[in-house]
This record gives sequence, structure tokens and C-alpha cells, in this order.
Amino acid sequence: FTPDPAEGQRVLGLDRAHVFHSWSAQAALNPMLIAGGEGSYVWDYDGNRFLDFSSQLVNTNIGHQHPKVIAAIQEQAALLTTVAPQHANAARGDAAKRIVELAPDGFNKVFFTNGGADAIENAIRMARLHTGRRKVLSFYRSYHGNTGAAIAATGDPRRWPNEFADDHVHFFGPYLYRSSFWATTEAEEAERALQHLEQVITFEGPATIASILLESVVGTAGVLIPPPGYLEGVRALCDKHGIMLILDEVMAGFGRTGEWFAFENFDVVPDLITFAKGSNSGYVPVGGVIISDPIAATFDERVFPGGLTYSGHPLACASIVASIDAMKEEGIVENAKRIGADVLGPGLRELAERHPVIGEVRGLGVFWALDLVTDRATREPLAPYGGSSPAMVELLGEIKKRGVLPFANFNRLHVVPPCNVSDTEVKDGLAVLDEAFGVIDKHYTG
Ligand code: PLP
Repeated sequence: FTPDPAEGQRVLGLDRAHVFHSWSAQAALNPMLIAGGEGSYVWDYDGNRFLDFSSQLVNTNIGHQHPKVIAAIQEQAALLTTVAPQHANAARGDAAKRIVELAPDGFNKVFFTNGGADAIENAIRMARLHTGRRKVLSFYRSYHGNTGAAIAATGDPRRWPNEFADDHVHFFGPYLYRSSFWATTEAEEAERALQHLEQVITFEGPATIASILLESVVGTAGVLIPPPGYLEGVRALCDKHGIMLILDEVMAGFGRTGEWFAFENFDVVPDLITFAKGSNSGYVPVGGVIISDPIAATFDERVFPGGLTYSGHPLACASIVASIDAMKEEGIVENAKRIGADVLGPGLRELAERHPVIGEVRGLGVFWALDLVTDRATREPLAPYGGSSPAMVELLGEIKKRGVLPFANFNRLHVVPPCNVSDTEVKDGLAVLDEAFGVIDKHYTG
């Protein structure tokens, strides 16, 4: 790539004049310019290269520009670039087969969507129609997407201006470091969080609840790994009351935790699985719902009242097939698991030994969060819930200045490189984080 600062200025001008950005007040935006990328790196127009420790929005599980997936998209583009959802098409059928082969027994159908949010919409729609009930229970501390029911199900501040959908109820999930249950061990946290959920179910009325919708491992809201027994307990409550369990694998799925699906880290099988991001690393927008046989059977004779012009888009489906095949051929999911256990996890824990602002390190595979605090005793967050702080802004600036792209949320730094990141890349990134934390340690007041 030849640097071209003039082109960079043109791109910035176009963006500021005409592009309306997500989740932002528009006036003061100064977006980072990305000209290209390859593998674990992206670069700007000035010739600066960045190690992508964000995987963009935690979606480039196979890194940028994987040649096998690019070739499959090009091949499909030459053959047929679009086809209406009512027709049968090879790319669509092959993608659906690849996906159900990864899912547990008893999942044989896939409904394709354009992304994660509409996967959630349709999973909720299926659960409501299948049960004849309306309510959806989900976590405070969650993100499920920006459309009607998905944002109402979300448990973060982005829900507040968007609550137009009805029949959504929130409850607290397990989060030992900031326990809502005064728990001091994982076992206590799991047990009390389940008692809390059982109470919410009782008080809401079990027969009114269509679904419990959870991220298998909560992503943006903190990489919160359920303690042993928790998801199994939720499954048991669902079975007891005829409630459908939807596990949202949009961020946690397709290798991120070192398993194809994050729920495989636990002894639980849901009724519906939502996916998007890592299924094709976002090379073409796509998502979907993997449907268990009993729910699929509900719509054998009854019309499913949902659809999208681009459901099962051939470019998206060809990219899913190639991406899953490449992940298998190259052992990319196994790599994520090994990196987490041997390199990234230990490396982050070492950082925590040197930098007191790192209150807790948690994660699996290539899915990690550092919970940052001003005081380890009080666990006072380095930024308030729903906001940022000068210390967080400084940290992110110091990381970027040294050539690493970070992902942050409130008081947390998430470390989420691609699943095929190399040991050297992880070590280089950790060295940068070490230096950046060195600069902001002064904000520790404990
Ligand atoms: N569910 C989870 C767990 C997510 O992390 C996201 C996006 O970050 C979504 C759903 C929504 O996906 P999309 O932005 O593709 O609509």
C-alpha cells in the first residue's frame, strides 16, 4: 500500500459532509481513516499500520481479507450476485448445511437475516409464536442489536432512548467481580443469580414468558463468563416453565471463545441460536437464526410471518461457506483456544500484576476484558457506567499512538483480536498495552 495523505483528506471530507454515523452526535466526530487491511492489521492513508485488537466490532474472526473468502465472494459474484429469498440456491443451501453441521443434534434449519439485530428479532418472533406467549426476559448488562425488540431486550444505556417494543423484562446475571448478590464465590454467584431469576419468573408469571434471551458469554457489556452451573440452571428453569432459551452467539460464536459456539463451554443446549459477525467475519453483511426441530415444526403447516429481501444473499452465503471451510482447514478455532490459554490470558494476567488499574482480567479464547479501577479495594470503575473518563480517553490514545486498535466500553478495555492472530502479534500487542498502562497508572488512587 502506497500512502496517499491527499486521498485521506478527500475521504475525511466526504465522510464529514455526507456520512451519518451510528450512536454519535455528528458535529464533533473525527473518525479514524482506514484505507485497507490484511490479516490482523489495518492501515490508514498516511502509511500507519495498526494491529487490530478490536477485530473491528468483534467480527473479523478470520482477520482481514482472508484470500479463500475473498476468492469465494469473487467466484459467486461472477456467477450470481443476488437471488430472491423464495428461490433455492446452491450457496444458500451449502451455507445452511455448514451451519447446522456445527450446531448440536436437533438443529436442522437456518433462517438467514442481514445481521445480528434482525436475527434477534426473528428468534423472538419464533419463540413468541411457538409458545403463544409474549414476554422476553434478558440481562441487564447485555447488547442484542439496534432494531425494535432487539434494542428493547438490550441491557445497556443504548436501550433508554429506544424502548418502543413491549413485553421486555430485565434481570441481573452473574458477575462476581461486581456481584448484585453479595456473593464471594462463583458457586454462590451462580446459585443466587438463579434464585433471582426464578423469583423474576414467578413474579412476571411463568405462563406469560415466551423466552429467556441471553448472550452465552456477554460481550460488549463486559465479557462476562457464566460461572459453572449457571446456564445449566437457566435451561432447567426454562424446561420447568415451557420457556424457550435463545442463546445469542452473534459476538461470542464462531470461534471467539475457542469453541464454534460459546455455549459449548457449558453443558447447555438452547432452543434457538442467533449468529452473525464471526460466521463470515462480516465480509458481507449476514446473520441468522439456527432453529431447533420442535420450533421449526411449528411452521411446517403454519405460515412464518417474517422475511427479508436479502435473506440468504448469495454473496453472504458463499462467504459463510468459505469462511467455515477456512476455519476448519486452518484450525482457526483451535488457535483461538490455544492463544487464550497459553499466550493472551497469561499475558494479560501478567499486565495486571504490574498495573494496579487492572482490577480484573477475564476471558476465554480471543475474548477478553480488563475491568479497570481507580482503587482495587473499592473497585471504583475508571469510568462511570454509561460514560467515559479522561483516564480512559488517555489510555485509548496511548494504545493507538503505539499502533494498536483498541476496543473499549465504559471502564473496560476489551482485548479481542482475530481468532487466527499469531503468538508474535499477541506479544507485540501486549507490549503496547504494557506501555500504555504505564502512562495511565497515575490515575490509580487506591
Ligand atoms: N447480539 C450481540 C451479542 C451483539 O454483540 C450484537 C452487535 O454487537 C448484536 C446482537 C447486533 O448485531 P448487528 O449489529 O449485526 O445488528
